[in-house]
Amino acid sequence: MDVGGTRIKAVRLVAHRVVDRAERPTPVTDEEVVAAIAELALSLGEGDPLGVGLAALVDVETGTLVWGPHLPGEGVAVAEPLRRRLGVDVTVDNDANLAALAESRIGAAAGADPVVMLTLGTGIGMGIVIGGQIYRGMGFAGEVGHVTVDPEGERCPCGRQGCWETRVSGRCLDTEARRLLGDTAAAGDLVEAARGGVTGAVDVLAEAGRWLAVGVEALVLTLDPAVVVVGGAAAAAGDLLLGPARARLASTEGAHHRRSLALTAGILGADAGAIGAAIRAGEEQSHE
Ligand SMILES: [Zn+2]
Repeated sequence: MDVGGTRIKAVRLVAHRVVDRAERPTPVTDEEVVAAIAELALSLGEGDPLGVGLAALVDVETGTLVWGPHLPGEGVAVAEPLRRRLGVDVTVDNDANLAALAESRIGAAAGADPVVMLTLGTGIGMGIVIGGQIYRGMGFAGEVGHVTVDPEGERCPCGRQGCWETRVSGRCLDTEARRLLGDTAAAGDLVEAARGGVTGAVDVLAEAGRWLAVGVEALVLTLDPAVVVVGGAAAAAGDLLLGPARARLASTEGAHHRRSLALTAGILGADAGAIGAAIRAGEEQSHE
């Protein structure tokens, strides 16, 4: 299950294939969220381990939602009440970590290692998979969207200035779409327009792609990943976004000495987080 700020998506996974799915809007209180997860789980079957991804900081040891700007509550026990109610094993993790796990096991980066996945949604989520396992640091590794890439840049909702996600994210493309196409336009319309050859739209995506590369370059220099997978709503732009990013990465000093990094769009789409949650739940159980 993937619990986002607006929707909860659930999939039932059998042998790494989605055999059933369900979804509903995310309720407003933390108790309702836990109850909604339980209901969705029961609607897809009983007795199987449950994995839950949350768009939030998550304590994976205790299965607790620590805090997240898009979900209700702080320090909310999620795994424990679900275990009690459903009588199954429950694992809880951060949604970006789980999307990265899914793309690295059965998606765009299958067989590659290490893998970094960037989810371009409202902001930038990041998951890192090293040696086949999610890398967590002290617990919350991956909050890369708020690394400063432009100290003179615009103010980010987090309070800092010129964060990476102010230059490339779904929210930032929504803003550009409104500027270019009118008040009701969003990132998806911008991508449509660019596909239709609207020059301004192509330029906006290319510029976002170059800013994408600025952050990816830092990841290459720190982690040297084999594959960087780009997912989330903005990833629908495909090569209109990734092409200019690849071109910038290739032009970097010393780039030709490295084995070339694959910068690619995810193939599991909006299901990636839920699929990763199911994969992790299944693997945790088989370790017991
Ligand atoms: Zn920020």
